[in-house]
Amino acid sequence: MKINLTAGDALIFVDMQNDFLPGGSLAVPSGNEIIPILSRYIAFFHAHGLAIFATRDWHPPDHCSFMQQGGPLPPHCIEASWGAAFPASLEFPCDINIISKATTREKDAYSGFTDTPLNGLLKSSGTERVFIGGLATEYCVLNTVKDALRLGYATYILADAVRAINSSSNGGLHALEEMEDLGAVPTHFEAVSACARFPVPF
Ligand code: ZN
Repeated sequence: MKINLTAGDALIFVDMQNDFLPGGSLAVPSGNEIIPILSRYIAFFHAHGLAIFATRDWHPPDHCSFMQQGGPLPPHCIEASWGAAFPASLEFPCDINIISKATTREKDAYSGFTDTPLNGLLKSSGTERVFIGGLATEYCVLNTVKDALRLGYATYILADAVRAINSSSNGGLHALEEMEDLGAVPTHFEAVSACARFPVPF
């Protein structure tokens, strides 16, 4: 299904951070595969003057999700560290909206909407449809998509720009099915870029 991007559309890319990529402390095995395609989505939305949001884990060094604090995960995405940074190969303009989540020691957050200004910023920019990609499919992407649907946004999942951390257990496929059952619409770059008002800028 081709999609004609219009005013009121926004791109949200979830947790594209070094620690979630190969070489990071909590790596999605093939997470780096989506960097080029996500860069294309970003360039396309930017060329159409549409809002772009980037969520990121931004944890204090003693965050509750870390094993040293009794949590289930290795330390990752510690605020202002290399692991928390966006990968150098991900291309995006400097005026995107960066949404930091799980920024306090006591609380974790899988959704980009949890205790962040994301919903308010989307509402104030007139957003009605969101297009969501990033990492990892069955955790932060899934929960961000579920919240977007709950909050009333028409929600598209960028099926070619997500990757699962547990690909061997089909966690990503199950998450995609769950998102679709809830009302999210899977799409891909060719469908989104087919009805361009401007030439594709690459
Ligand atoms: Zn985290």
